[in-house]
Amino acid sequence: MTTPQNNRFTTQILHADRLGGAEHGAIHKAIHTSVQYGYDKVEDLIAVFQGTSKGGFNYARQGTPTTAALEAKLTQMEQGQGTIVFSTGMAAVCAVFLTLLKAGDHLVASQFVFGNTNSVLGTLADLGIEVSVVDATDSAKVAAALRPNTRMVFVETIANPGTQIPDLDGIGALCRQHGLLYVVDNTVASPYLFRPVTVGAGLVVNSLTKSIGGHGDALGGAITDTGLFDWSAYPNIFANYRKGDAKGWGLQQLRKKGLRDMGGTLSSHAAHQLALGAETLALRMDRTSATALALAQWLEQQPAVSRVLYPGLPSHPQHAFAGKHFKSGSWLLSFELHDPAQCLPLCNRLQLPIKATGLADTRTLIIPVAHTIFWEAGPAVRATMDIGDSMVRVSVGLEDPEDLLADFEQALAGC
Ligand SMILES: *Cc1c(COP(=O)(O)O)cnc(C)c1O
Repeated sequence: MTTPQNNRFTTQILHADRLGGAEHGAIHKAIHTSVQYGYDKVEDLIAVFQGTSKGGFNYARQGTPTTAALEAKLTQMEQGQGTIVFSTGMAAVCAVFLTLLKAGDHLVASQFVFGNTNSVLGTLADLGIEVSVVDATDSAKVAAALRPNTRMVFVETIANPGTQIPDLDGIGALCRQHGLLYVVDNTVASPYLFRPVTVGAGLVVNSLTKSIGGHGDALGGAITDTGLFDWSAYPNIFANYRKGDAKGWGLQQLRKKGLRDMGGTLSSHAAHQLALGAETLALRMDRTSATALALAQWLEQQPAVSRVLYPGLPSHPQHAFAGKHFKSGSWLLSFELHDPAQCLPLCNRLQLPIKATGLADTRTLIIPVAHTIFWEAGPAVRATMDIGDSMVRVSVGLEDPEDLLADFEQALAGC
């Protein structure tokens, strides 16, 4: 039988559980609900605690066979060396920052990041971690922000809501040159459109709630170690985790400090739902990207629309990079209107898109950005993130594209 590694993206996901060792011939990994894991011999329990046995479970806060099966699939998808799953994307983001940075360290982050991640950057500053927020679409700005105490650079592959794409290659080269940990949040693109390991990322974060789960019915997050970062040179690894091959130090610390101690554990039930969602990731990304491109092209021709932000459009500042490195433009697009007063009436006239926050559901979702998800951030942050008062974010779903376009047509006719 062929090994999963020899197969392509979707084939690997579909057969990972079965080829990884089926229980009772079951095709899916079972939903293991046990919190405790017992052993006949106490030496075997000790080996799990001391990390001397390969695998093995002891208490579900640190993982179950069901979450481990999802981790294995994600490792394959991102072509990394290991993955840890969390209860939410934010739990994964926080585990990276709080486990691997300490007071006195410096972090460089893209100014175009998820709103709640931006809020966490403020928390880090209060904890004594210096944070510089820069326009990461230009790696020279990242280079200019580096200090002797810089440890980490954090970016998102396609930023929400503005769809900015950082200079992923250039920042990768910079991080390699300076020995910095390069963390890429790949939530919007997903490993189907783009793999951050190809530009030198050390860690990849995914909110599984979005592209990978894809059905708006389960929260989850993940950190994948690509194997590219040299943990032996990283000063913030605790003595306890500087054991064995240095390649495993980062994930060891993330699992013990970030998951076991902080407790943002993914349930086996949610892991099962997210694994089912992952099976159709490629199909959904192809469909939603094609619809989003058609909608973006149409919107760009409408007189009432002042600009459309979508990587698949030639007008997008990083269009050339996206065309070369990304399989397609994703389900995320945003647009603005010449007349901001038309923003809310337009949203109300749209019948199919659901007025809701959230991303990458099977159903199209729309939200006026400045009034909702970036309301708390205030006008100053909105200005630095290039979010206009009339910005509408669209998370394109799986509806038939003709129906969606017809709905936008009737709604924009009123502007
Ligand atoms: C949604 C999102 C997160 C947080 O994920 P949750 O699962 O909602 O906690 C992090 N990063 C990006 C880019 C996101 O879109």
